[in-house]
Amino acid sequence: MFSSNEQFKQEFIDRVERMSGKSFADSSERDQYQALGNMVREFASQNWISTNEQYRYSGTKQVYYLSIEFLLGRLLKHNLLNLGIEKIVEESFTELGISLDAIEELEADAALGNGGLGRLAACFLDSLASLGLPGHGCGIRYKHGLFEQKIVNGYQVELPEHWLRNGHVWEVRKLDHAVEIPFWGHIESTMENGRLVFHHVNAERITAVPYDMPVVGYKNKTVNTLRLWNAEPSAYPIHKDILKYKRETESVSEFLYPDDTHDEGKILRLKQQYFLVSASIRSIVRSYRKQHISLQHFHEHVSIHINDTHPVLAIPELLRFLIDEEGYGWDEAWEITTKTISYTNHTTLSEALERWPIRIFQPLLPRIYLIVEEINRRFCNELWERYPGDWKRIENMAIIANEEVKMAHLALVGSHSVNGVAQIHTEILKQREMPLFYEVFPNKFNNKTNGITHRRWLLKSNPQLASLISEAISDEWIAKPEKLELLMEYQDDSLFLEQLSKVKERNKHKLVETITAKTGIALDPTSIFDIQVKRLHAYKRQLLNVLHIMHLYNRIKEDSSFSITPRTFIFGAKASPGYYFAKKVIKLINTVAKKVNEDSEVSKYIRVIFLENYRVSLAEEIFPAADVSEQISTASKEASGTGNMKFMMNGAITLGTMDGANVEIFERVGNENIFTFGLSADDVLRLQKQGGYRAMEYYQHDRRIRKVLDQLVNGFFSEEQNEFEAIFDSLVAHNDQYFVLRDFSSYVDVQSKVNEAYRNQNEWWKKSLVNIAKSGHFSSDRTIQQYANEIWRIRSNSNVL
Ligand SMILES: *Cc1c(COP(=O)(O)O)cnc(C)c1O
Repeated sequence: MFSSNEQFKQEFIDRVERMSGKSFADSSERDQYQALGNMVREFASQNWISTNEQYRYSGTKQVYYLSIEFLLGRLLKHNLLNLGIEKIVEESFTELGISLDAIEELEADAALGNGGLGRLAACFLDSLASLGLPGHGCGIRYKHGLFEQKIVNGYQVELPEHWLRNGHVWEVRKLDHAVEIPFWGHIESTMENGRLVFHHVNAERITAVPYDMPVVGYKNKTVNTLRLWNAEPSAYPIHKDILKYKRETESVSEFLYPDDTHDEGKILRLKQQYFLVSASIRSIVRSYRKQHISLQHFHEHVSIHINDTHPVLAIPELLRFLIDEEGYGWDEAWEITTKTISYTNHTTLSEALERWPIRIFQPLLPRIYLIVEEINRRFCNELWERYPGDWKRIENMAIIANEEVKMAHLALVGSHSVNGVAQIHTEILKQREMPLFYEVFPNKFNNKTNGITHRRWLLKSNPQLASLISEAISDEWIAKPEKLELLMEYQDDSLFLEQLSKVKERNKHKLVETITAKTGIALDPTSIFDIQVKRLHAYKRQLLNVLHIMHLYNRIKEDSSFSITPRTFIFGAKASPGYYFAKKVIKLINTVAKKVNEDSEVSKYIRVIFLENYRVSLAEEIFPAADVSEQISTASKEASGTGNMKFMMNGAITLGTMDGANVEIFERVGNENIFTFGLSADDVLRLQKQGGYRAMEYYQHDRRIRKVLDQLVNGFFSEEQNEFEAIFDSLVAHNDQYFVLRDFSSYVDVQSKVNEAYRNQNEWWKKSLVNIAKSGHFSSDRTIQQYANEIWRIRSNSNVL
């Protein structure tokens, strides 16, 4: 399409003028952004159409990835890169005197997710398209994505996010593909031709309108689809109060729930879940129907994957569709459904397992509830035959028990595959969390260790490192990330290690500029950048990190001979608005930061920064500048983590517990290239089961801990006297279930090892190199290829490639 810079520039100038109604000289950066976005989307559209045609004519099996979150971030540069036109655009812009970086800044992050789970879905879409695999996303087009975080006087303040304020150039509204979703009302049954038939009467309908976004594969002409559903009033409302109906309807796609671990317990949330799956299944069947008449072989042509339990109603919804709308009998419908659906579990935290009270579920979704009851009845009968008289076991495994619907049980029973997201996580699921289900369905359980797209997290966000790598081992690693391993040959090449350190230094400089511009705080780019960025949660233990910083403060103050390599501790984290403890930790980090940074003695050695509003676009600046990656969750609690992989791929060394994917990072890089500490998952699970942890003893017997904890409550900080009492109490009085004090000493020791290791620069950059070289395994291309081969059984369309 753009054969030369001249041609591109002409087309671009014309487009700007046509769209903005201004002369090019008068156009604003936003006009230019809009015009460029439009051109790029149109360019992608040609391949989008041909990919869809190819899929239709070849009859290739399609995968639909259902997720309540897609944390996409920005798409402009990513699309330019994947379309292979980023050079031409960048050069042309330079010739026109436009900064592509400045234009990119105008794009709002599509923050339709909270953290790891939503970002995983976004990385998976990129890998599916880049591998030429027929896989599409289905989600919700929230009007407001994850809140924007401001830090005011050390406290988190939440502002509503408004990514659609200036429109979104990548989406296409498809009104003619809208579907109607029924809620409330009641069910009547009649006998028709000797068959019981169910009718949903007096239902309140919501119209689901799809907005499609192209998902562009890396230089392979594949363009898949992300379909996001918008909730709108039906043209045939039954409501008397139309304004109220309109408000209620639109609220379904108004907000993303700002929490990915606790069940919010809101009707609206359940409404969102059914809205997503019902609309998606209707549109999946519609598209299937373009090639097939009967749904009998549906599962041979369609795979539906549910990302955690939020879309688990896909199971009863597909059953309902087959039985009520297509006339299938239960057994046949059940077989088609279970063979179609597969499920990923993302957590071992029992408080995060979704459960819905019947009193909410039944009136909102009366037909779906009847179907879930029938699934439960049949499942319990089977259990009864297998374990006659074992009431306890059956009660523990039932889908409906104690007046609640257990969504994870529904997912386990109604799908053919259940996967954990890291080896250790899958083992914990099998052995500790769901052993009863593992006994009944051993073949359903499998592991798919998470991954990240190396195209966004290395190629796009760290171009200097990407070029250095390509100069050394050619750019083959972009198509085959496992080729990064070729870098191992450069372990003893001191010139290469020197170049590697220079790239890191430049990235650190860049981050310092950003931070200084925002905060006015000057930082030392030659200090060690020690970074913890992720959602704020007790199990992730940002608190352990900050207690250690307080300890370092004390050491520097107490011992004038104590000296360490200067270190900059950087945090970024949003806390769920209702999560009191997490917000206290944010306040503590900011309070310690102030104390440290304003102390001329201490700030010679350490500085502390809390970066507000952690999100994908900020993350892209942070990972390339990191020396140390803090992955310090209580062992057994972090299912996988993916931040750990992004750091590793950018040459940071992991300082972590043996938890989640840290274990697999350890196995790949070896003991000398990672810093591990703390309790093992087995230790934690044993301590939890048998008791025996007394936090108070650590407070009493370790004077370092006592000093730091006393400082939380003795007026050491010029905050309100009781500001940090809740933190003190959680640790000591409530015998902290995350074992912060138990792991403190081990953490202090490993931190001092980091300090020692950094002194030997050659060895440090060698460690960094090994981490990059071994990170190819953590590309989501590897993960997706495993899903494709072992769960979905789909193949890349070789014609497309
Ligand atoms: C990768 C990522 C996460 C997940 O981080 P973890 O450390 O795995 O919890 C969360 N938020 C953003 C913006 C990310 O890019």
